[in-house]
Amino acid sequence: MSKVHKEQIECPHCHSIGTMEMIDEVDADIDPVLRERVLNAQAFIYTCPECGSRILVGNSLLYHDAQHRFIIFFDMERPADYHYQPLKLSKSIIEDYPDYTFRYVTGMTELHEKIIILESGLSDVVIERMKYMLAHYSHPDIARKSYKIRFANYDPDDKDDSEFGTLSLFYRDSNDEAYGIKLNMRLYYDFKLAVKLDPRMHPQGCVIVDEGWISRQMKGGAL
Ligand SMILES: [Zn+2]
Repeated sequence: MSKVHKEQIECPHCHSIGTMEMIDEVDADIDPVLRERVLNAQAFIYTCPECGSRILVGNSLLYHDAQHRFIIFFDMERPADYHYQPLKLSKSIIEDYPDYTFRYVTGMTELHEKIIILESGLSDVVIERMKYMLAHYSHPDIARKSYKIRFANYDPDDKDDSEFGTLSLFYRDSNDEAYGIKLNMRLYYDFKLAVKLDPRMHPQGCVIVDEGWISRQMKGGAL
């Protein structure tokens, strides 16, 4: 069951007090409305009933998808002392969900992206490893200019290039112009095998898996 609670919010503009429903836990497959509110970030936006100001409210939540077997621990901001150490989880949650993917995620864009990757049945480690290769080797300008490559979608029915479908990624340049990168799913399966054979690419515990994690693992796990 999803869990929510109400909190009083003071509008920073007109100082009137209102209440906001804060989400503590989302059970995505049985509560699609809440899932949608998290995906489109409405779950984190308070609209003042007096003046209509929209305020970003940073709350933490647990996102559970039983159908796709993953659990995400989410914080709006990454703690300053976070260096990819695994979250300290209660033993019971790990034992209750033995075949699950556990991830720690910070930032709304990152949460949206992680959910759609895992809902697509793809490995986020493989996707991040592919993004790393694209940004650092195929298109080194992307890494040099610190653009972030994001996952857009997986289309198993787009069989122009491969019988396995295609993977779409994109990035935005400094003018906020979006550029798409379309990849053959064969490449995904090549990377999947490489990730499987590389012990550095096996996350231990509930960590953030992003470009920084890949980079750290590629360099042998040094901080
Ligand atoms: Zn207001």
